[in-house]
Amino acid sequence: MKTLVLFDIDGTLVLTGRAGVRALERALTEVCGRADMLADVAIAGRTDRAIITEALASGGFAFTEPTYRAVRDRYCGYLEGEVRADTPHPKLVLPGVVSALEQLRPLEAEGTVSVGLLTGNFVRGAEIKLGHFDLWTRFRFGAFGDGHVDRRDLVPVAIDAAAQAGEGIFAPEQIVIIGDTPADVDCAHAHGARAVAVATGTYSVEQLRATGAEVVVPDLSDWNAAWQGVYPFRPHR
Ligand SMILES: [Mg+2]
Repeated sequence: MKTLVLFDIDGTLVLTGRAGVRALERALTEVCGRADMLADVAIAGRTDRAIITEALASGGFAFTEPTYRAVRDRYCGYLEGEVRADTPHPKLVLPGVVSALEQLRPLEAEGTVSVGLLTGNFVRGAEIKLGHFDLWTRFRFGAFGDGHVDRRDLVPVAIDAAAQAGEGIFAPEQIVIIGDTPADVDCAHAHGARAVAVATGTYSVEQLRATGAEVVVPDLSDWNAAWQGVYPFRPHR
């Protein structure tokens, strides 16, 4: 049975030195005329649409599609410069990521695995962030945060994207989601998919264990061990 492997971006594949937060602060300030719009808004594991929706609400601004698009377009405009900017915050491809993606290649070539993205980033934001590290073209399809507030809604989007990319039709139990937050695990389990939780973002191994993820690892450097925990899929008896 073919397996669909879906990677989150921030805290899972890369850290961008908090470029996304700075770009979004700038965009919100420009559109709303107020600074610190993200001060009370949780970021990790959420879709960009959810973050902007809550930021507007917490600042007392009405959510409208034109306002949302204005923030999104400015954000994407600022993001590239912010990803390149000098920052004291870590900016890197996370440990084991390149090797893990390489180890998946032969499985893709033999047709037993498909690799895509499941991320809260806007598609353009994902392209900028991963493009900075030469990882964007590694992924042929994905589910992105442009149109959805709830991360759980991205699982069917990813299934559709895989089908449109010619990868076939996947049932949720054929899916492995790799992410760094409880929200990544939740969106997997909400559909009956499996989860690899990796503690390279803002959550610790202990916090991620509490999610019930099938596999919890400190980082992806021991990809083989992580992969053995979810593949090949063995049905529960
Ligand atoms: Mg993440």
